[in-house]
Amino acid sequence: EEHEPVEAMRPETPVKPMTATEVKVNVSIPEAAERAAATGADGVGLLRIEHMVLSLGRTPAKYIADEGADAYVQELVDGMRTVAEEFYPRPVRARTLDAPTDEFRELEGGEDEPAEHNPMLGWRGIRRSLDKTDVFEKELRAFRELWEMGYDNLELMLPLVNDAEDVRRAKSIMRDVGIDVDKRRWGVMIETPASALAIEDLAAEDIDFASFGTNDLTQYTLAVDRNNSNVAGRFDELHPAVLELIAEVVGTCRELDVDTSICGQAASKPAMVDFLVEEGITSISANIDAVRDVQHEVKRTEQKLVLDSVR
Ligand code: PEP
Ligand code: MG
Repeated sequence: EEHEPVEAMRPETPVKPMTATEVKVNVSIPEAAERAAATGADGVGLLRIEHMVLSLGRTPAKYIADEGADAYVQELVDGMRTVAEEFYPRPVRARTLDAPTDEFRELEGGEDEPAEHNPMLGWRGIRRSLDKTDVFEKELRAFRELWEMGYDNLELMLPLVNDAEDVRRAKSIMRDVGIDVDKRRWGVMIETPASALAIEDLAAEDIDFASFGTNDLTQYTLAVDRNNSNVAGRFDELHPAVLELIAEVVGTCRELDVDTSICGQAASKPAMVDFLVEEGITSISANIDAVRDVQHEVKRTEQKLVLDSVR
């Protein structure tokens, strides 16, 4: 009697190691959705919408004035839908707009933008959204429409919050737009020391997750411009001050049953992955090309933790 070769009877080698910590992927342009999904990532940890907006060539205010609010909403719906569809039912965490004024100033309509001395400390992220609610509302409408279309894998993330007041104001606008904040999954980025120190108050606002934007968290904790080559050697996401803030937030969130995540560039550094897995982070989101390595690094660290615990 003929037997099949042993090799052929083995199950296919899994392309992706099974890990307790979720490994997700960052997506910056909808066109990359297919390639991102093919990594086997557990979802999208950060979908930036800046490209969808900046590629219109006009500031949101100008675009809305020229083409109408519906056209602007539709651009966002189309872009986010491509990613939500590709990943369904895996979760896709899209972030509301976070472009600094100097980037808006390069667009048509940019002459109406303020010339800021220090855009990174200026009118960006949630700060701008809470002041320019007319534009923010259009973004929120796009989320609402996608949720109503059945993309319940879509999640909403607020950038650059400092405190619970930022979250309360955002939540109130979300409600005004018709979003059921109790039903939908939404959360905040932890990108400033203030937000890390305020994590208990933020959690009390019923956020579902807190995600570390370590590019900004490092910049603001160390007062090192992330885009200045003169101080690039001092830009260290593994600096003890940054790690202490992260560890505090992860610990508090575990107690309060809030998911934690990282979506900054540091997510692809093995030393950061080891640290985060040991602290008990829920998910790690890396760039497409780094996902596979992060999956394996997470696996190694989890195995080491299991071995350490039985020793
Ligand atoms: C971050 O700050 O780490 C982050 C992911 O956001 P961005 O790089 O878009 O500022
Ligand atoms: Mg950021």
